[in-house]
Amino acid sequence: MNDSALELLLDNHDIKPTANRFLVARTLHDAEQPLSLLELEAIIGTVDKSTILRTLNLFRENHLVHVIEGGDGCVRYEICQSHHHDEDEDAHLHFFCEKCGQTICLSDKHIPQIELPDGYITHSANFMIKGLCPKCAKKIH
Ligand SMILES: [Zn+2]
Ligand SMILES: [Zn+2]
Repeated sequence: MNDSALELLLDNHDIKPTANRFLVARTLHDAEQPLSLLELEAIIGTVDKSTILRTLNLFRENHLVHVIEGGDGCVRYEICQSHHHDEDEDAHLHFFCEKCGQTICLSDKHIPQIELPDGYITHSANFMIKGLCPKCAKKIH
């Protein structure tokens, strides 16, 4: 995604593209896997943690990112590739490798629709599978 497309994406989510916001969005987009606050901080280097966290919270409120829980207990963030505001067709499974600690997007594996009992309203869903990624599984066998 080029800079103007990324700027448009921020704009579409009602986020004013300041330099820091742009940098955080760019880093998340280029990573191609969900990143934790610490991982983001390590990659970006020039922006302090509280600014990154504020930016992530804004992204979360404006539905620009998915928040992924599970794995090693760190919350991770990824850019939502959904094309609709109300319906998130990008909700997909994630895999946490217990050996190398990576959280991997299984982008074409969609979260199954679960019918909830009456009265429950879903806002988001997390579906995390844990085990060994192909690289780590190979090392063991
Ligand atoms: Zn692994
Ligand atoms: Zn993902």
